Amino acid sequence: MKIWAVANQKGGVGKTTTAVTLGGLLAGEGVKTLLVDLDPHGSLTTYFGNDPDTIVSSVYNLFRIDQKITARDILLPTRFENLSILPSSTALATLDRQLGKQDGMGLVVAQALAELAGEYDYVLMDCPPILGMLMVNALAACNHLIVPVQTEFLALKGLERMLRTLKMVQRARGAELSYTVVPTLFDRRTRASRDTCAALRDQYSENLWSGVIPVDTQLREASQAGVPLSMYKPSSRAVVAYQELLNNLDGRDPEIEQVQAQ
Ligand code: ADP
Ligand code: MG
Repeated sequence: MKIWAVANQKGGVGKTTTAVTLGGLLAGEGVKTLLVDLDPHGSLTTYFGNDPDTIVSSVYNLFRIDQKITARDILLPTRFENLSILPSSTALATLDRQLGKQDGMGLVVAQALAELAGEYDYVLMDCPPILGMLMVNALAACNHLIVPVQTEFLALKGLERMLRTLKMVQRARGAELSYTVVPTLFDRRTRASRDTCAALRDQYSENLWSGVIPVDTQLREASQAGVPLSMYKPSSRAVVAYQELLNNLDGRDPEIEQVQAQ
């Protein structure tokens, strides 16, 4: 089971969009995919037609060890084959205040996912933009980190902060965690987009995906329809870009695949 976390301590950079779109592509390929909403805002949960204000069992309940709730208990199907979610609820916002001082809370998500290891091929976790218990859990549970960075001024500050958090968690894990920086909301016509991409290439070349996710208004339409873009408008620019990103994250080389297919 591959477990990827999508995180950046900045909001509005395309985290939820990245988790949903990659998840939609994977499910469309016929692989069992689980999306985990770790953001108290519950955007991913809402995307698939659930209300984080009224949801009864969510990731929150996994942290209430006294309730003995498992991942299987909170799992929700979506309208799409091969795609399930572990939903968020607004109660998640109270987690740090309620349970922050309790020991052993850092591996709750990792342990919950371990129980589902035989059932899913991919897990994608959508993280909150705050450094707290949920972010720490995501970074402890994943085997790769995806950091969407909006190609806009000041974006590099958010990236630096995220990478400092990663270093801290790595020290606690006692192991390196690989990561991929993904430029998002790229608009070739704006200087800010071009300059930010150039700065990313200068400073983060080793961990930078060489492509970009372009601005594509169809992402918002797909989100309003509650359908991953790959199933809503498969030929759109953002889907093409996200497919390339997926190939890269998965270590697929399209040329090699083509040769093998012949
Ligand atoms: P985050 O989860 O980091 O807060 P979202 O994925 O929710 O960010 O994206 C913020 C807003 O930007 C949403 O309305 C989303 O539809 C829109 N958006 C995200 N990526 C793109 C893109 N590539 N092109 C156009 N709009 C986008
Ligand atoms: Mg989000």
